[in-house]
Amino acid sequence: MRIPIIAGNWKMNKTITEGIDLVKNIKNITMDTDVEVVVCTPFIALSNIKKEIEGTKLKLAAQNMHWEDNGAFTGEISPVMLKDLGIDYVIIGHSERRQYFNESNETVNKKIKSAIKYGINPIVCVGETLEEREAGNANDKIKTQIIEGLKDIKEEDMPNIVLAYEPIWAIGTGKTASSKDANDMISFIRNIIKDKYGVNISDKVRIQYGGSVKPSNVTDIMNQSDIDGALVGGASLKAEDFIDIVKF
Ligand code: 13P
Repeated sequence: MRIPIIAGNWKMNKTITEGIDLVKNIKNITMDTDVEVVVCTPFIALSNIKKEIEGTKLKLAAQNMHWEDNGAFTGEISPVMLKDLGIDYVIIGHSERRQYFNESNETVNKKIKSAIKYGINPIVCVGETLEEREAGNANDKIKTQIIEGLKDIKEEDMPNIVLAYEPIWAIGTGKTASSKDANDMISFIRNIIKDKYGVNISDKVRIQYGGSVKPSNVTDIMNQSDIDGALVGGASLKAEDFIDIVKF
């Protein structure tokens, strides 16, 4: 049985004060649900939000990290720093990082290894562009992202990794992949994991869908056989919407 996981990716939104307000309004939802609920906040808010969620089951994630422990990398945040904060998850390879900050499958792979080394659970994002989908190349793109991203990742570490399928054309556009298309791609991803690690692992790995998830479409998405959760952008910024999504 895979425990559903719903994560709110705030992206570059919310000051510390606004973030604390939002979390005050959503944190108690974790008391009445079996869903694992995560907030992925800007780095600057992590420490304050960590204090705010103490005593609840709400989990905390960073949206990125460097793969090195420390060093001359101006502006970067290391896994050692995140570990010290006691965060649970880190998003790795979000399409916005791949698109605007030149992240590649190779850097994604380094970051996953580093997160695992420090016991931080990676949420690894993959997704195709509209052009790739229309050209019939979506499956190849996703397969390459998964195979290269998970290169040399050991079987025993796989259950701690969450995968997120986020078609780029569905992010922030209001267009959602149909729940069937999303489920088809997520089963395809699960099969790649099965071929690489066997069915015991592929049955355990949780795979989320992300891209314009909102209260009105989450039930249909979560009812699909292979979709284990959602990575929510815009709709995670409003407490009522995020709570409705968690209650799918
Ligand atoms: P939206 O829910 O705003 O489409 O964003 C999805 C996303 O990128 C989550 O990581």
